[in-house]
Amino acid sequence: MTFREKNGISTKLNGNSAASHQRSLKSKKPGWEYAESPESKDHIIINSKYDLFINGKAVKTGKYFSTVNPANEEKLSEIAYASAGDVDKAVNAAEKAYRNSWSRISPKERAKYIFRIARIMQEKARELAVIESMDGGKPIKESKSVDIPLAIAFFFYYAGWADKLKFAFPGRQFSSIGVVGQIIPWNFPLLMAAWKIAPALACGNTVVIKSAETTPLTLYKLAEIIQEAGVPDGVVNIISGAGDTGAAIVNNPKVKKIAFTGSTEVGKLIMRSIAGTDKKVTLELGGKAANIIFEDAPIDQAVEGIVNGIYFNQGHVCCAGSRLLVQESIKNTVIKKLKYRLNSLRLGDPLDKNTDIGAINSRQQLDKITELVESGIEEGCTIYQPECKLPSKGYWFKPTFFTNVAQSNRIAGEEIFGPVLSVLTFRTPKEAIEKADNTQYGLSAGIWSDKGSKIFKMVNQVKAGVIWANTYNKFNPASPFGGYKESGFGREGGIQGLKEYLKF
Ligand code: NDP
Repeated sequence: MTFREKNGISTKLNGNSAASHQRSLKSKKPGWEYAESPESKDHIIINSKYDLFINGKAVKTGKYFSTVNPANEEKLSEIAYASAGDVDKAVNAAEKAYRNSWSRISPKERAKYIFRIARIMQEKARELAVIESMDGGKPIKESKSVDIPLAIAFFFYYAGWADKLKFAFPGRQFSSIGVVGQIIPWNFPLLMAAWKIAPALACGNTVVIKSAETTPLTLYKLAEIIQEAGVPDGVVNIISGAGDTGAAIVNNPKVKKIAFTGSTEVGKLIMRSIAGTDKKVTLELGGKAANIIFEDAPIDQAVEGIVNGIYFNQGHVCCAGSRLLVQESIKNTVIKKLKYRLNSLRLGDPLDKNTDIGAINSRQQLDKITELVESGIEEGCTIYQPECKLPSKGYWFKPTFFTNVAQSNRIAGEEIFGPVLSVLTFRTPKEAIEKADNTQYGLSAGIWSDKGSKIFKMVNQVKAGVIWANTYNKFNPASPFGGYKESGFGREGGIQGLKEYLKF
């Protein structure tokens, strides 16, 4: 039973029969059709079972769990669940590799290995993209054109730095840290692994990395690539499991640095666990970014920026532009164009090249999104969803936005991590800044205006780690990424990202 049914409200949320309440808001559906264009799976090899990758070898463990395709709920593979003992093995292998090989070889040699990883990833890019979409639910056009190329770019970028560290930090004395523990989420599995592994290796550290429970496959493909690249055994150890596996990495005394991307809640747990130790830490946590559209902005481009900001990767993006702040004078125009655009988004098979909105990553995440959207309706906000058919199997949520949103509504304050936008308005730049900063988060923001001086004024005052001007969700290995406030601290990417993996 949905929240609305429980409360005597008859409309079913997000179902195929949904949206009777939306009819009055319905805007014209663009009149074009697409032929299906599914990406081939013939060349994809997914083993029926994956063991842990420790000390350059597949290592069996006592417990395994299934990973499923969220688009059809079919099982893809059995995955090793690393125990605390397995974590110890992985950390010991990393420590031995640090002492005996990786810290002894020249930076130029280190670079060669990292370049080699990048090149093999390029050769396998299509396979990696298809597996990323099958395991995580993201549209193939995104994994093919964003996740995998960017992951490769990070390896190339940091390979280039490996023998030039003294130029990055001229006149300063520094050394590598040792064993680094890395914990990543499910929204960009291979990309997050690249953000973390590449700078760690370039700086001379060895790694134990844990994938998220729902998306372990591309990391085990990366393990095969690392083997093929001839990286010395134990330099990169890849494990899988759940929260307790992550906690065992955090608490292992031989791990000298933790790099974590995930929820603010787990970020806080990690901080409590390492208090009183000398571990270095970087935390990349949640966000609730403001995407601010001024009346002098190029409106059509801004609407594309809104769509890209919140519906990219089904909104499973920490820096998603989930709060639209639109200047009051253009609100109606923007909403009208946004409705038209939502009606043209194609939701369905992630492996179809036409798909814009793929599957929600897990049942658990779908429940979280549904609960928060129901709270928005209950609190009196006005929902808009296009009329589109949801597949009968798998986890799906229609692209959604809310108007009549107050800053106190849950949907305006909490990270939904789904394809759900809250629309708020402002009249003056001062009000826009106040509203943008009225959040415990501070990861990202977007500003759309024709006027450069206005953009510069805004970026100096909005408290966010990354601010895009007249674009959104643009990433580059040379640009640092990270947050303020409860979005965490430390930076990934660029020279700043190197600093996090060195001792000064
Ligand atoms: P988590 O923070 O729980 O997961 C992130 C990673 O941390 C996963 O690998 C997870 O393992 C691991 N982990 C879980 N518990 C612990 C622990 N106690 N110690 C160490 N590592 C741990 O995020 P969820 O996947 O549960 O998502 C919950 C919410 O977090 C989302 O709805 C979203 O709002 C936010 N989120 C934010 C992300 C971001 O990029 N900022 C990314 C992902 C989620 P496992 O997968 O096995 O549980």
